[in-house]
Parts: sequence; C-alpha cells; structure tokens
Amino acid sequence: MSTKKIVAVIPGDGIGPEVIDAALKVLEHVAPNKFEFKSVAMGGNAIDKYGEPLPAESLKTCQNADATLLGAVGGPKWDNVDPNIRPERGLLGVRKGLEVFANIRPAKIFQPLASACPLRKDIADKGIDFIIVRELTGGIYFGEHKAFTLNGERAASDLMQYTEHEIRRIAHVAFKMARGRRKLVTSVDKANILTSSRLWRDVVIDVAKEYPDIELNHMYVDNASMQMVRDPSQFDVIVTENTFGDILSDEASQIAGSIGMIPSASLGDNNRGLYEPIHGSAPDIAGQDKANPIATILAGAMMLRYSFDMNTEADRIERAVDEVLKAGFRTGDIYTDGTNLISGSKMLSEIITRL
Ligand code: NAD
Repeated sequence: MSTKKIVAVIPGDGIGPEVIDAALKVLEHVAPNKFEFKSVAMGGNAIDKYGEPLPAESLKTCQNADATLLGAVGGPKWDNVDPNIRPERGLLGVRKGLEVFANIRPAKIFQPLASACPLRKDIADKGIDFIIVRELTGGIYFGEHKAFTLNGERAASDLMQYTEHEIRRIAHVAFKMARGRRKLVTSVDKANILTSSRLWRDVVIDVAKEYPDIELNHMYVDNASMQMVRDPSQFDVIVTENTFGDILSDEASQIAGSIGMIPSASLGDNNRGLYEPIHGSAPDIAGQDKANPIATILAGAMMLRYSFDMNTEADRIERAVDEVLKAGFRTGDIYTDGTNLISGSKMLSEIITRL
C-alpha cells in the first residue's frame, strides 16, 4: 500500500496554476516521492466546466486528502456571474467543508527585503517575525445580521457571539504554535468594553494553565494595532477573534512587505489543513511569467510543518528563499533599484538551485 501523503491541489485561476506549479516542484524536490498530488477543479475554471465553483467531487477529494494546497481563484471573467456561484463561494465552501477554524498568517520580514518595509529603519531592523492566529468561524461575521426600523429610522445590527469551546480550541492552537517558537502568546481582545471579549480573556487564561512554559499577555485591539507599527518585534504569537484578526492580519501583511511573499494556513481539529498564498489570482499579470511564486512555495513549507511534521524540509525551503533574496533576485512585486529583476520561473529555478 502506498504510504504517500495525499495532497489535494487547487491551481485555480489567473496566476494560480503558475504559482502552484512552482510550489509542487519545490515540494517534490525537498521530499521526493513522499506526496501524491491530486488536482482539483475550483473557482472560475470550475464554473466554466461544471457550472459551479466547487463541484461536490472537488470538495470530497480535499476532505479525503491529508492536506490541501490552493493557488488563487477568481478574475474579471466571473465578476458578473450569479453571486451564488461566484469563485469566492468555492473558497468559503472548501473552508467550511474542511472544518478549519484557525487561520495562521506569518508576518515575517526577510532581512534582504527590509527596505520594502514601510516602517522606520530602526524599527524594522529590530526584526519582525510573528504569527497571527485568527479565529475563522465565529464572531460578528457569523452572528445574526439584522436590518430593521428603530424609532422610525433605518437601523442594523450584527451579533458578536462566541462560545467557550470556540475560544478554547483556538487558544490551544496558539499555545501549541508558541511552543515551537519564542514561547509568548499575546491575546488580543476588547475586554474593557465587550462581554464576548471578557469571555474570550477568561477562557484563554484558563487554557494557559495547560501551558506553564508559555508566557501569556493581553492587549486591547486598538493598542495592538498601534503596537504593531510602533514595535512589532515584541510579538511572537497573536491570538484573536475573527474580525480583529481580519484587520490586524492585513495590517501585518503591509509591514511585512509584498503580498507576493506571504503564505497562510487554515487549520482544524483534524490537522488536514488548507494552505494558500494570501494574494489573489492577479489577472493583470497572469500568463506572463511575472508572478512571484514565493508565497505559494512558503505555503507549501507551512504544509510540511503543520500537517506533516516535516520541520527540517520546511526550514530548508525557508532558507533557500532567504538565500535567493540575499543574492539580489527579485520578481517585479519586490523589485527595487540595484536588485536583479527576474521572471517567476527564474525565481523558482534559483530557489531549486539553493535547495
Ligand atoms: P490580487 O492579490 O490578485 O492582486 C493585487 C495586486 O498584487 C495586483 O497588482 C497583482 O498583480 C499583484 N500580485 C498579487 N499576487 C502577486 C504575485 N504572486 N506576484 C506578483 N504580483 C502579485 O488582488 P485583486 O486584484 O484584488 O484580485 C484579483 C482577483 O483575485 C479577484 O477576482 C479576487 O476576487 C481574487 N482573489 C482571490 C483570492 C483567493 O483566491 N484567495 C484572494 C484575493 C482575491
């Protein structure tokens, strides 16, 4: 019987297939014959072929796989299709179908790209290397949404709701991540105002008792957004609810440089995991060999680390990326004067050379 790990692969649309192809080549290089890749239709291409963004067969392949690697979906061609079958529906469907509840986004400055960081040099030079663990399935995005009339005028409300078990399971993810890092968890909430945040803080403190080796501190979300630009070196693992995490992770992506560099992982209890770059399908550069494959290659490294415990191989990939950047190679999105502008495929071959 094959002992290969099954990886469902969703190339998607636009630059998706280009960056996925690069990531698969890197994975095959660091772990030859360890994976069976199963290509899955999702997004605009699936709408064209099957009339829906996430055919049942595609979801089943992802659910039966050990992990799923996704490029990106969508593009102008499908901007005007029925909202119920838009490419993004496929994304939500696969997240729901895989029961992932934790979104992990690293915010890391590769030192050779420090000049692309919009923060002051002395701040960036202190080093930026933290991760945001964002709760994905609860909070205001999933609470009751209501539009109504109040005192004769239009009114609306969205319910911010969390249950104890939702907080407990995301807190465990954060503490476990901190164990493999600098052993510091910062829980971000608004406990001075919100009842849901007071429950959040209570439960996180309780979970922390199971991790005596990890330091826990708390920060209000407004302060956290300020500290992230004042001194991001203070953070190791940030854990927070859905909406706060949505906003803070976009802020973090800016201080860490180009969108073409940042991977993300979405994890559930079953460890199956969904791994993807944070960027979209970049239709403006699709098919021109301009796409930076690094975010997807690093998503592959996260998959090795979190789904397959292959930390050595993941470290090798991250080191190779760092070395290529140190050597001055840049795709258009990270190009600055004095560096060497190369294509996406050349970026891949430079990374493979260093592996
Ligand atoms: P985008 O991330 O696709 O592109 C924004 C800008 O960044 C563009 O100029 C693009 O060329 C550049 N860029 C993105 N990734 C790059 C890379 N790897 N290398 C070099 N440059 C890169 O965002 P958008 O333009 O807002 O969206 C385009 C399409 O992607 C839309 O249809 C949107 O719905 C979809 N989208 C999909 C996802 C996803 O699949 N997870 C996420 C965001 C947007």
